[in-house]
Amino acid sequence: PLLSIGIDIGGTKVAAGLVDRRGRILRTLRRDTPGHDAVQVEEVITELVQELSRGRWAVPVGIGAAGWMDLDGGTVLFSPHLAWRNEPLRERLEERLRRRVHVANDADAAAWAEWRFGAGRGEPRLVCVTLGTGIGGGMVNDGRLERGRHGVAGEFGHAIIVPGGHRCECGNRGCWEQYASGNALGRDARELAAAQSPMAREILQAVGGDPDRVTGALVTELALRGDAQCRELVADVGEWLGLGLANLAAALDPGTFVIGGGLSAAGDLLLEPAVRTFHRNLTGRGFRPAARIRLAELGPEAGLVGAADLARVAARRNPFRG
Ligand code: BGC
Ligand code: ZN
Repeated sequence: PLLSIGIDIGGTKVAAGLVDRRGRILRTLRRDTPGHDAVQVEEVITELVQELSRGRWAVPVGIGAAGWMDLDGGTVLFSPHLAWRNEPLRERLEERLRRRVHVANDADAAAWAEWRFGAGRGEPRLVCVTLGTGIGGGMVNDGRLERGRHGVAGEFGHAIIVPGGHRCECGNRGCWEQYASGNALGRDARELAAAQSPMAREILQAVGGDPDRVTGALVTELALRGDAQCRELVADVGEWLGLGLANLAAALDPGTFVIGGGLSAAGDLLLEPAVRTFHRNLTGRGFRPAARIRLAELGPEAGLVGAADLARVAARRNPFRG
């Protein structure tokens, strides 16, 4: 197949696109992730696929979802940010759409896209970290996605980095994603705003004085526009990011880390403190090669591009399934 459809289902947004075999996006559509209802998410996916495949015959569909897939890719075992619990997502979607569907974890899909078309091209040991609602992780080793024994490898966001720390949606406390994600940035800024700190003046102005309306995306935007306080908040998150990457390097020793997801839009404001903290905490520093740390090249579209490409590859490998 020359074209495929990729759909990235995150904690807040659903992004869909029609993608060609070089990873170029011909068309995109966006929706908010519907509340906490699995059926509504299926309905949104169905609408998006119908819209994107209008006038085309049986374009393969790939899903990248913020959930933990089993090894076979049929079932979403669990998702901290969405309603899925042991959800037979692939079967449900194949019934609705009457065509084959490939399901992957959203961060695995993003890692795949960055390895195929982006900042991780040619890297034999790639680790991709996506910063959005949570932290996602994906690994590509020698051109293959590393999925672990049960399909749930790369859940870096739930490594406990502060015992007894902030409560996480997964049920534990102190997970890395509570300190280094878009949500973490939003929470930090809301706390500052709720304290009515004079340092939060710009932030409060931007939300008409209502701290509840502060989001990580807003803080990123204000930081990019030059607000000093928001730059500090982004830098704090960058330091947590660098610390986590140092831990990952101790365990995995990749050649390149690619940093993606919505928060990567902060660019050097995030990357510079992350790189500094990474090198400061890397075990054996000075006596070992260190991984490169690069921003994702496909930006927030990486997940949908990767999902589409995985679906295309799967369809080519097994054209008669489904
Ligand atoms: C989930 C991952 C997901 C990530 C990014 C985490 O909380 O556990 O499966 O990839 O968020 O969406
Ligand atoms: Zn967690």
